[in-house]
Amino acid sequence: MGIRILVVEDEVEIADFLVRGLREEGFIVEHAADGDTASHLLDGGSWDLVLLDWWLPGRDGMDVLRKLRGSGRDTPVLFLTARDAVADRVRGLDGGADDYLCKPFAFDELLARVRALVRRRDREAPSAVVTHGDVRVDLTTQRATRDGHPLEFTAKEQALLVFFLRHPGQVLSRTRIYDHVWDEQYDGVSNTLEVHVMELRRKLEVHGPRVIHTLRGRGYVLGDPATIGGN
Ligand code: CA
Repeated sequence: MGIRILVVEDEVEIADFLVRGLREEGFIVEHAADGDTASHLLDGGSWDLVLLDWWLPGRDGMDVLRKLRGSGRDTPVLFLTARDAVADRVRGLDGGADDYLCKPFAFDELLARVRALVRRRDREAPSAVVTHGDVRVDLTTQRATRDGHPLEFTAKEQALLVFFLRHPGQVLSRTRIYDHVWDEQYDGVSNTLEVHVMELRRKLEVHGPRVIHTLRGRGYVLGDPATIGGN
């Protein structure tokens, strides 16, 4: 399997240079030119590394990073920044970046750091915990908790919860959920999903407020529905 890198950079020339250079090195590379597109791509896919520019139109790099880490993902992030003030580097690293590179940089140096981060990720066990707020599932032990209280789920309920935890803030249609959790096509009639969501909510809500919300005619979303836009 190839190594997937997301390049988040609004300056066209730098972006082209990075995308082309990394592809020539055999990486699978996608590009986002603004912070919102980047967040969308990060939510929707699995990435081995993110090259993240600090200054971006819309949501800035720091914001994208905060959202990524807030969703419990430990995808390695290499910050690209024109800022070389110590305070800014510290802020980036404190915000969850794994490394940074000040512009302008030599491609060879970028490549060396990319390789180092990918190697480091390979050495460390992949994160086996998915969380959202006080809800937590340890994928190794299959232990689920909310606010520290153990939760007992059936295998399907747990698979459904993990799917939600992996896509926080995203509107998940019935079709998409069926496809991933049941590995079958939604027949448009069955209420299997509704029944599972109901059980999941009942167990989760013993220890806190609702986290899985219904969006009529659209599906379900994990998180605060007030923050869900028109996507
Ligand atoms: Ca920029």
